[in-house]
Amino acid sequence: MRVPAMRPYMRALLSSSALPVDFATRRLSTAASAAPSSSANSTSGDLQGKLAKQIRVRGAMTIKEFMTVALTHPVHGYYMRREEVFGRGGDFVTSPEVSQVFGELIGVWCVACWERLGQPRKLRLMEAGPGRGTLIADVLRSTAVFPGFHAALSVDLVEVSNHLRGVQQQTIAATSGASAVDIRWHTSLESIPADPDVPELTIAHEFLDALPVHQLVRTPQGWRERMIELREHTAGAAAAAVDPHAERTDELRDLEADLRVFDFVLSANPTPASILFGARRGGDVVAEAKAAAEAKAKANAEATTARTQGVEQQERDQTGGIVPVLDSAEICPGAMSFVQQLCKRMAVTRGAALMIDYGTDETPKDSLRGILRHAPVHPLHQPGLVDLSVDVDFGTLRQVARETAGSSLRCPPLSTQRDFLAAMGLEARINALLKGMDDREARKELVRSAGRLVASPGMGTAYKVFAITHASVGSDGVAGFPDAPLLDGGGR
Ligand code: SAH
Repeated sequence: MRVPAMRPYMRALLSSSALPVDFATRRLSTAASAAPSSSANSTSGDLQGKLAKQIRVRGAMTIKEFMTVALTHPVHGYYMRREEVFGRGGDFVTSPEVSQVFGELIGVWCVACWERLGQPRKLRLMEAGPGRGTLIADVLRSTAVFPGFHAALSVDLVEVSNHLRGVQQQTIAATSGASAVDIRWHTSLESIPADPDVPELTIAHEFLDALPVHQLVRTPQGWRERMIELREHTAGAAAAAVDPHAERTDELRDLEADLRVFDFVLSANPTPASILFGARRGGDVVAEAKAAAEAKAKANAEATTARTQGVEQQERDQTGGIVPVLDSAEICPGAMSFVQQLCKRMAVTRGAALMIDYGTDETPKDSLRGILRHAPVHPLHQPGLVDLSVDVDFGTLRQVARETAGSSLRCPPLSTQRDFLAAMGLEARINALLKGMDDREARKELVRSAGRLVASPGMGTAYKVFAITHASVGSDGVAGFPDAPLLDGGGR
């Protein structure tokens, strides 16, 4: 891998020991809210009731609809609740919450891109899904040593949750060097003006994995959509045979036996998503539609044959029939349109975008997962209380970028968090921080937490780094990425 040449500004940033080391205190500040409150339980009850009623009235719903409500219902959605969901006391911990070094090195990346853009006098820094605001606060704090960079900055944050906007505001206000910057909040990219004279840097960390997906399943009758139905309608019988989440601990099974009211079930007929995205995934939709009627008659017979021939995966459809599963794919229209909008504006404004998330260049088949207080739970368990996330389909996003903006933008091959942070100067930064620290425990904690960010196997390899850059960011590659042909990127 090519490590970017150490320019003077980077050296200054990486070695600045004037930056406060605040990880020890802030990382513990969430612990007080570890226990779910009684209002949290009523949240799930309310949301579960609403979703169940909707299914009773309108029939099975898509996974995308379910996720949208579970995560972003204005009152009871997971991200909209007042309880703490991030950090040690919440459901999950993210890289910026693990170590301040993460945000500091993203700060290095931002300054490197600004440099490569020729140090423009105006620069828009956007972050999508800032969570508690820790990452943006660390970026702003650590880059304050560059007055020119800060003077150019305006910051736009895309955040759907009013509650989290408040938390972000507090985090930023409490961070030295961050509070002086002009910051605005938005519900989507669309409401942020795109100015050809103001280049843009965008960061999104664990944002795309929170956007809702459709799950499509290829059957002998063509692509179908996996839907969500009430257990009382499926009589719970479908679950054991067809539920991809059937492997669980005893404790989890107990939890569900009491509380889970939803099941997965395959749509008996094509749905708008299976028609639209199934076509994108391949398969002749018209021919499939023609063949569907005959195929349906044969389906149960085929299923029997499949069973005897050892086709492993089967699912139950809405009519109660068992259907063999030939292939499956998860589709995230929200991530696709986010990248499309980003690329459209970047083609005009110039700049670069950095997205860090779980994911691969392959389309995930079924990655939907539920997390409650650091433990995996069934994704249909207690909507609103459980964090739902998916793997990001970077290959498709790369394709969307190419289709949207052609040759004006570049997508280097996917990198890992480990390689990216190493290339941005992780070691130099840790050494500089250690120089300014006397406390033995604090020194140990700094090294331990930074080690966790780059652990392999672990966060260092599970998290991937995806970049899109405008050609004007430079012909000699993108800061933090391997030296590779950039035009048209690697991967697919
Ligand atoms: N980047 C943070 C938080 C990740 S959690 C970190 O790494 O710690 C996902 C974030 O995206 C939350 O802030 C959540 O409220 C926000 N979010 C989720 N869905 C969104 C949507 N559709 N539009 C805007 N923000 C969304």
